[in-house]
Amino acid sequence: MKVLVTGGSGLCGKALQKIRPDWTYIDSKIYGSLTKLENVQKMYSDIKPDVVVHLAANVGGILKNMNNKVSMYEDNILMNTFVLGEAPRSNVSKIVNILSTCIFPDDPNLELTPDAIHSGPPHSTNEGYAYAKRMSYFHSQILSTKVVNLIPTNLYGPNDNFSLESGHVIPALIRKASEGKLEVMGTGRALRQFLHVDDFARVIVWSVEESDGAPKGIICAPKEEVSIKTLAELVGKEYGLEPVFVSGPDGQMRKYAIPGEFPTPMICLEEGIASTVSWFNGQKI
Ligand code: NAP
Repeated sequence: MKVLVTGGSGLCGKALQKIRPDWTYIDSKIYGSLTKLENVQKMYSDIKPDVVVHLAANVGGILKNMNNKVSMYEDNILMNTFVLGEAPRSNVSKIVNILSTCIFPDDPNLELTPDAIHSGPPHSTNEGYAYAKRMSYFHSQILSTKVVNLIPTNLYGPNDNFSLESGHVIPALIRKASEGKLEVMGTGRALRQFLHVDDFARVIVWSVEESDGAPKGIICAPKEEVSIKTLAELVGKEYGLEPVFVSGPDGQMRKYAIPGEFPTPMICLEEGIASTVSWFNGQKI
């Protein structure tokens, strides 16, 4: 079985490569941008995969999402449309498509299960990214190819994007703390779930090797949610710093996603942050 992974150079792709080095990984340097149909067609005709794990995406934290709504929408809708749409024509037997809990409606009273995806608009801070992913959810359900839709919560771990402008909350906090000042945007009261990328990589392997398809979607999240304040304190502990809260957006205050049936996470948040900090500090030597 030939497995092709798009977005192989990113956070999830690198975690997957550690457990399945035998799969084929591509990034934008190999076939160019997957926002172009001809590049996607060339990728499929060269590699002829049986299964596709579609990780490639224009991804980022709250600031990148707020400041780049057009490119977050256009890049993702084009990439997803071409990668999913060309799969049946290229005799792919299964696609593992990656969504995100960011695509859920911004409604604290809604029970977040896959049935709720289209029940209201997403949070305005990430609407470009969210609507593109929602359309890939719809697209995947009308394809003839078997699909496993995975809906991960916030992911973190080694090889994350530690940029202050475009990174997600955990790598951004680690970067700030490593520079000696742990300033945290917002009130710290927003609640989130975090999944270590190595746990998510195990779910992807299970989806490729064992799942018989799950077009409705599987929410990949731990049961526990933590406040941004608790998270910042965990990061601060690693550097002997106390977080300082400054004015800025909180994003959605709470979006508890109800975990679906997927292999149990093995890495707790405290342990995952400690090992990510130690990986990040090692990179700077
Ligand atoms: P990432 O670290 O930002 O990596 C993105 C990957 O996509 C890179 O390999 C990048 O290749 C590739 N890519 C981006 N634009 C491309 C383009 N136009 N053409 C071809 N390849 C392109 O992303 P990630 O965090 O691993 O995310 C993987 C998947 O999980 C995505 O679908 C994302 O939406 C989803 N997800 C992530 C999180 C999270 O917290 N990180 C949470 C929920 C869902 P280059 O290096 O060549 O640019």
